[in-house]
Amino acid sequence: MIQNILDDIYSRISEEQSGEVANYIPALAEADPKDFGLAIVTVNGDVYTAGDADTPFTIQSQSKPFTFALALEECGIETTYEHVGTEPSGDAFNSVVLDPVTKVPFNPMVNSGALSMAGLIQEKKGEGAFEAIRSCYSSFAGAELSVNDRVYDSELATAHRNRAIAHLMRSGDVVSDPVDEVVHLYTEQCSIEVTARQMATMSASLANIGTNPVTDETIVSPLVVRHVLSLMFTCGMYDYAGRWAVDVGMPAKSGVSGGLMAVVNRQIGIGLYSPPLDEHGNSVRAIKACVELAEEFGLHAFEFSNAGSSMLSVYI
Ligand code: GLU
Repeated sequence: MIQNILDDIYSRISEEQSGEVANYIPALAEADPKDFGLAIVTVNGDVYTAGDADTPFTIQSQSKPFTFALALEECGIETTYEHVGTEPSGDAFNSVVLDPVTKVPFNPMVNSGALSMAGLIQEKKGEGAFEAIRSCYSSFAGAELSVNDRVYDSELATAHRNRAIAHLMRSGDVVSDPVDEVVHLYTEQCSIEVTARQMATMSASLANIGTNPVTDETIVSPLVVRHVLSLMFTCGMYDYAGRWAVDVGMPAKSGVSGGLMAVVNRQIGIGLYSPPLDEHGNSVRAIKACVELAEEFGLHAFEFSNAGSSMLSVYI
């Protein structure tokens, strides 16, 4: 039943041709606009896929919730919130701006907040920082993940705004390690390669309150998951987050490579990939697919029938 609906949505939305592949990171412009993959992983560990669900792409901003989770888990809630806020910014994701009142980034889902979280992990783990991040993402994905060097080099060579943000935060002591180290670490985390199937597993680990439902490994605590999903819900979809909350109603995070992950609490994780982006920087096909999935299965968090919160007992 779930497979049939997924196949149906895949074949209908494959027809969609609009959107532009991101090119401000030169290597991302080489992505194939035809690629389109969908995956659903349930909290029971069942996996459903359609299309290019095993095509690798770089995780980009979909990394942000997971480094935030790692910071909360490793550094504690109080310390983490000394370095990042919890409010939507109203600015572009790569704005060189901090909250004028608190002097820290608005939230962990914009570049400033993500750089601050990478800085916190750098401070805590030193030389082991990247391995801590890579191994955390790998646990969420249930697979050993690694960096796409070509995208990493391309992004590092053009990361001028991220350097500016990191310098601003260094001057205000939001980050305490050298700017270059923090920007390298953040760029490396964004260049980790995943597939739609792996992103769906990462989402399902959040849906399953911090335990990967395929490997059964517990990665972060339920309290950490509550913080992460709350910030994904309010800030995860760039300047479309509000409309997304109204129309689709799931905690989600998108990225410039064309990935999108969405979580239905205690039910499923969804992972999607299709490179052409809309004017907000979100994947056109991934958004359309999520709108249809939400409609079909009643996944909106505030759906009047509340079907999504018990979808597994209905469909399996
Ligand atoms: N690495 C990208 C950047 O820092 C991530 C942007 C995104 O996916 O939103 O610009």
